[in-house]
Amino acid sequence: MKGLYFKRTLTYREDLSLPKIDSNESLIKIVLAGICNTDREIIKGYKPGFQGVLGHEFVGEVVKSSNPSLIGQRVVGELNKGCGQCFYCKRQLSRHCLDRKIIGMSIDGCFAEYMAISTDLLHIIPKNLSNEKALFTEPLAAAISIIDTGHIKPTDHIAIVGDGRLAFMIAQVLALSGSNLTIVGRHQTKLDQFRSFAKTALEAECPTPQQFDIVIEATGSPSGMKNAMKLVRSFGEIIVKSTYEEALTLDFSEIVVREIKVRGSRCGPFEPALKLLAGNFIKFPKIDLFELHDYKRAFASKAFKSGFIISD
Ligand SMILES: [Zn+2]
Ligand SMILES: [Zn+2]
Repeated sequence: MKGLYFKRTLTYREDLSLPKIDSNESLIKIVLAGICNTDREIIKGYKPGFQGVLGHEFVGEVVKSSNPSLIGQRVVGELNKGCGQCFYCKRQLSRHCLDRKIIGMSIDGCFAEYMAISTDLLHIIPKNLSNEKALFTEPLAAAISIIDTGHIKPTDHIAIVGDGRLAFMIAQVLALSGSNLTIVGRHQTKLDQFRSFAKTALEAECPTPQQFDIVIEATGSPSGMKNAMKLVRSFGEIIVKSTYEEALTLDFSEIVVREIKVRGSRCGPFEPALKLLAGNFIKFPKIDLFELHDYKRAFASKAFKSGFIISD
């Protein structure tokens, strides 16, 4: 089968073998796949040990399954497969399982015609939700994790540092609760997309320091964390959504002296994401779709989101 295989570099191949499934897995025919920032970071060296098919955001159709009622269904899937037995797995936190396998990062992912996946990671796409919108389930779930793992009051003053895809989704999720939101970014054209539901500010004209109860760092670059430190009030909270390819230097004394809380946040729940998407509460610019062999253009795309159309 055709697919994008990573082994230090990414290559397009047509000789990949069809995945085999075991007794609790499903075989998925991939329809659409989305490129995530994490995929770009893997290509730059974020997961040096990984070799296999890249990609973890997909919409597909179940071809074979340990649960026959799923065959023929349109599905999306979570990416962390835990051991099912440990402290984390027993508390629905398999994304922290020490023995977890991660789709497209430690086991074969979805930038291919077919993928094997543990059946319990699958979620059926509601009938009224298009494939293109459903492709945003995983990144939207990551945005929802901010309110899933900690409390944010609608009356809090919140800044989001970053004006990219992740920031756009986090901002829409928070705007639904009526939060007082300011987006701090570098690109006026990108910031304009937030105008209908948030205040915006250019980083160069940085808003008054230390006026936000909560600052969400979603830039993917270490400078974003430095800005977050400037913006957050003493005794406030920084929620870090970015992972960084390079090491981050931070003045921890400042965190101690100003009593700032720092909270990491990563993957989130799929069902609420599917509900928000099906209810049309979240809006996106169009996705830029490419065929697999055109992967270099797909990765270079400057569109809000790019990805692959693999079958129809
Ligand atoms: Zn992703
Ligand atoms: Zn586990």
